[in-house]
Amino acid sequence: MPILDDTIAAIATAPGAAGLAVVRASGRDALAIADAVFRGTAPLGGAAPNTLHHGWAVWPAADGADARRLDEVVAAVFRAPHSYTREDVVELSCHGGRIAAERVLAAWVRAGARLARPGEFTMRAFLNGRLDLAQAEAVADLIHAETRAAHELALGQLAGGLSRRIDALTERTTEALAEIEARVDFAEDVGGIEVPPRVIDEIGAIAAGLDDLLAGAPWARAVREGVRVLLAGRPNVGKSSLFNALLGEERAIVTAVPGTTRDLVSERLDVGGVPVTLLDAAGLREGGDPVEAIGIERARAALESCPVALWVVDRSAPLEDEDRWIATRLSGRRVVVALNKSDLGARLAPADVLALLNGSGGPAVEVSATRGDGLEALRAALAGALGVNGQAGQLGAAVSNARHVEALERARAALARAAVAGRTGAPGEIVALELREALLAIGEVTGRTVGEDLLDRIFSRFCIGK
Ligand code: GDP
Repeated sequence: MPILDDTIAAIATAPGAAGLAVVRASGRDALAIADAVFRGTAPLGGAAPNTLHHGWAVWPAADGADARRLDEVVAAVFRAPHSYTREDVVELSCHGGRIAAERVLAAWVRAGARLARPGEFTMRAFLNGRLDLAQAEAVADLIHAETRAAHELALGQLAGGLSRRIDALTERTTEALAEIEARVDFAEDVGGIEVPPRVIDEIGAIAAGLDDLLAGAPWARAVREGVRVLLAGRPNVGKSSLFNALLGEERAIVTAVPGTTRDLVSERLDVGGVPVTLLDAAGLREGGDPVEAIGIERARAALESCPVALWVVDRSAPLEDEDRWIATRLSGRRVVVALNKSDLGARLAPADVLALLNGSGGPAVEVSATRGDGLEALRAALAGALGVNGQAGQLGAAVSNARHVEALERARAALARAAVAGRTGAPGEIVALELREALLAIGEVTGRTVGEDLLDRIFSRFCIGK
């Protein structure tokens, strides 16, 4: 198990100029070490829980020596078990900017703290039983949320919405298992038992509960992870204008997505709560130098993997060969058509455009990027194509994490096998075996049954200081 008996410290705030920066420490010796790096009116070792203390962060000095001041700070003292980690925690709020916090952190380390690994505070909260694993993972999602819906989803999970549903299913599976095992024990000398129909029905009902939970997963995963949508259309139809109009309308999300090439539009739109990255299909023409070609190849692969496309067509001009060519490239996807430049008069009927998609496309929405007409309808059409409709009510308890989905699908399969075995009169031991497997898989979600490797993998995804 990870070491819990030392005291860890880290900067908990993002680097850069800001009002405040927080250096936090957690562990058995947090208060003792704090007294080596903090000078206030009284030592923090005697401070009451949940109290704030004004003073100075200092470089630890030998007894009696004058300590060098590093920053004017406020110390927050939390005593175990009433803290984020359930250990003693001290947070020093410094002035913002990198240097103050870095010097204060160095003082903590000098005085005996160890630099925390990514997610180590939250891992301690988990290991000390304050959060289950699903809640701990929600903390990372909360930090990385890019839309309000993603934030709500993570918040619901942090509050235990998902964990309660999982716990209820665990409880019922355990009950069913206990009932079968009791009969098996009792009937040992009679040579095995069949599982009573009532228990088999219950196993079926638990499986249905898992189905319910999994049904919301595709949408919740889209909210959590975001979706790439292909932005297609020949030059000059108004793709950039439309993109900017969609972006400008909400203003909230302008995140550069790292790793995308300059050929790809890399800001995110909020479409019904799903963070959508529009990938511009422009720049995918043949030719260019070899370096460019590699970029194009990569871009093309990204585009091929988009299940949804937004196709912009200039409504004020007749269709051209290039429009027809694009239409063939879009087949097999869900296509939302934006009939742009609707302010200029119509040379095209929606049906003319949709006909090119062989029935796989639609709806076609009239918009004017320059006037801002039709943007709401377009957004709604995109949301529909992404499968985002009326699911906001599930935000509190949805499964959005691929690891959770995978574990629950395994549990679901084991329950199905248990039900089949029971119905076909297999001995209780076989059904019990499957139920135990289901419990193991479900337990991976909340962390009842996970190994250290998995924990390391999960928490390494976190920020340092969280
Ligand atoms: P892109 O090449 O597809 O990205 O097209 P742009 O966004 O650069 O637009 C090409 C031209 O069409 C620009 O002059 C735009 O101002 C104009 N344009 C774009 N959308 C509209 C629209 O809805 N109405 C009108 N009248 N002009 C538009």
